[in-house]
Amino acid sequence: MMIKTKTNRTVIVQCRLSSTRLPGKALKDLGGKPVLAWVLSSMKKVNADHYYVATDEASYEALLPVCREYGFECFAGSLNDVLDRFVSLLNTVKTQTVIRATADNPFLFYEAAEESAALFEEKNEGKGHCDYLTYSGLPHGSGVEVFSADSLKKAATETTDPYDHEHVGPAFYNHKDRYVCEFVPAPRRYDFPELRTTIDTYSDYLRAVSIINYMNSKEYEGPYSTEQILEACRANAVKYPVVLVPSVVKGHGTGHLRRCLNAAKNGKFFIYIPDDKTLTETDSVIEEYLQTGLSKNQIINSIPDDSYLPAIITDTFELTENQLRELSKNRSLISIDEGSRFTAYCDYLLDIIPSYKCDRLANKTDSGFITMPQNVRERAAESEEQKIEKVLICLGGEDPANLTVPAAKAFMQKLPDAKITAIVSNEESPYVDYAGGHNIEFVKPVPGLREKLYEYDIVVTHYGLTAFEAVYAGCGVILLPTTKLHRKLAEKYNFAYVGDKSISVSALDAALKSENLYAKKFLEGDLKGDKKSIEDFLRHLAAGKKMCCPVCGEFPSQPDEVISRNETRTYRRCSKCGMIYMAFTTIEDKKYQKSYFFEDYKKQYGKTYEEDFEAIKAQGLRRVSVIKSLVGTRGETLLDIGCAYGPFLSAAADNGINPFGTDIAEDAVSYVQQKLKYPAVCSAFPEIDTAEEFGITQFDVVTMWYVIEHFKDLGSVLRKVSSLVKKGGIFAFSTPSGEGISALSDKDHFYQISPTDHYTIWEPGRADSILRKFGFKVERIVSTGHHPERFPSIKKSGAKPGSLQWKLTDAKSRAKKLGDTVEIYCKKL
Ligand SMILES: [Zn+2]
Repeated sequence: MMIKTKTNRTVIVQCRLSSTRLPGKALKDLGGKPVLAWVLSSMKKVNADHYYVATDEASYEALLPVCREYGFECFAGSLNDVLDRFVSLLNTVKTQTVIRATADNPFLFYEAAEESAALFEEKNEGKGHCDYLTYSGLPHGSGVEVFSADSLKKAATETTDPYDHEHVGPAFYNHKDRYVCEFVPAPRRYDFPELRTTIDTYSDYLRAVSIINYMNSKEYEGPYSTEQILEACRANAVKYPVVLVPSVVKGHGTGHLRRCLNAAKNGKFFIYIPDDKTLTETDSVIEEYLQTGLSKNQIINSIPDDSYLPAIITDTFELTENQLRELSKNRSLISIDEGSRFTAYCDYLLDIIPSYKCDRLANKTDSGFITMPQNVRERAAESEEQKIEKVLICLGGEDPANLTVPAAKAFMQKLPDAKITAIVSNEESPYVDYAGGHNIEFVKPVPGLREKLYEYDIVVTHYGLTAFEAVYAGCGVILLPTTKLHRKLAEKYNFAYVGDKSISVSALDAALKSENLYAKKFLEGDLKGDKKSIEDFLRHLAAGKKMCCPVCGEFPSQPDEVISRNETRTYRRCSKCGMIYMAFTTIEDKKYQKSYFFEDYKKQYGKTYEEDFEAIKAQGLRRVSVIKSLVGTRGETLLDIGCAYGPFLSAAADNGINPFGTDIAEDAVSYVQQKLKYPAVCSAFPEIDTAEEFGITQFDVVTMWYVIEHFKDLGSVLRKVSSLVKKGGIFAFSTPSGEGISALSDKDHFYQISPTDHYTIWEPGRADSILRKFGFKVERIVSTGHHPERFPSIKKSGAKPGSLQWKLTDAKSRAKKLGDTVEIYCKKL
């Protein structure tokens, strides 16, 4: 047995319940325990003789049970004069060293606390003296302060500053002339100042909930080690929080709420349920999920602020412009099956219920995310007649168009022997003229309906989730479209439907005889895909990056026009400068490594960059001649940014220009230096200091060949280029053209195949107005990359190179500047 020796230390956890930003946070539930409990169990790991919670009179009673449970004494003192509270407590204890933590930090680094206390004691050994010590660089919310009890008592008598009295540390470090205060840079294993673990705001609290959820998923038990806390903070589930915003509006049914609750449960997402919800079944549906694994912590009634920015995922039919504007501020807005006119606000559009191709393009359409029922009917053989014995009428619980009763009546007349079940909302059963005791039953919304659909021969519903689930369950499905759009959708996806509002028996008869009653065609198509996890996909989207115009560098108040959407990206046109830019991407940043040229280039072009040197140099010679024609006799110095293995430097040198190169690939730069013997530095642009590297502040010519599209901070790049080009000098670059035949003939395909690290797409026609902002005037535009085979006419005719049509198309491409790449030469004004 270990005998605990006297440490002369006291741990004091400062706590009050009257926090203004988050009242009562110390006792707020965090994964089944109060926040304070996490703090105490963590501080209990630090060696000390005494463990105290220092609180105020008003909070004492409420905190006492938690303190007792975790082996802490509870001391009540002044509410506002915290310094006095500490001194009063210390007057009751004989101790040398105090380790102070605060009750809003459930993820303290207790190892670091122990080490800093030991360091403090070491500094006070022998002749040494230290009054106050803390590690700097820990995550905000993971650190403690260590100080001498005697020094604190002395410091308290020496200050009357109210600020010093409201806190503890400032009595020392705001009086460094009198006290030895050490802010020791934390050892590397604790040094993560960019992380935040404290609970100051509601958003912080949600982050803490995410951390606990992560710990639980890993089966880690608290108090958590530094390693575990860091692991959690870096986990995608914590770094990229998700808030689901389902529809809880009367008339929308519970399908979308259920879809979100299910995703929240499985993906550990937050789900936003506003206090002013109007969907009557909301609470009972939520209760179902709370009983099957959803945690109360995950249900939130306000959207987190800037201190913990989640991705917002809406599943609400049709949001208003104001809602979309608010939800998209500073964070990614991802919308599922969004039908509003204002989807330009959405960074990403996911259509799960196949939609009618109206006026917008979704980033991804995939009905594979519909949760398919496990229970499926056995199908009767084709030849056999399907008997109809049980009919379910399910119009979303609330049935805003009041079609349930007319539908029930029509079925009663048409199928007098069938049992008809109609789902109605919580209110009383509607009055129906039963006309002879037919078997009709009105029931309240059925929990877990998806798995019960298979019991019915026919399901009557609206176009929506239930319809797709019923098709999959093998039921006959009849839709009752309420709008023109729903009618079109019913037709497009081959559903049988009754279009007239009175639900006449003849219309019903036609629907029952329709070859689409069992939606065979549909089943053969869309729904056969693999079952996919929507949670995983949403988490993946939440990690996506929302970006503003790289030239202007700020988010506009109105969303920029969407140019194209695809599965991994959204492109917009900046309303301020006209540049087309990547506004959202789910692709991780490409790391340009040493091996870029050896491996990637070969993968892309089938030969190494070195092998391609002469061909690229030939291009360079042509470019040099254009530059020379523009710059006259002054072409003396040239800086090639992204010089790679130097073919262009070599072309410039052959024309009597002094070339300088820079690139981020080390192997390329050393090749230029050693083999070609040109001055070159390995440096990122725009960070390079050319005066220091080359002794040159301005060049006659600055070039960038297929480099400019890679910059996320194009504004600062162009400013830097502008400062590097002499007045009257030339800035020349090449880049894919947003006005070439590929972009013009199939825009979405063009953006789809645009490399994922191209952040801007230049349109030659708009280049001048953008470049003028940086002091350049476009002198010449050379259309390059002519590909007759990419013209629709050649694709259609299959004309071969050398044919007349081919030659004419090639000539047209050149005359109309329809090449897929472009060189832009501009002069510094
Ligand atoms: Zn812009």
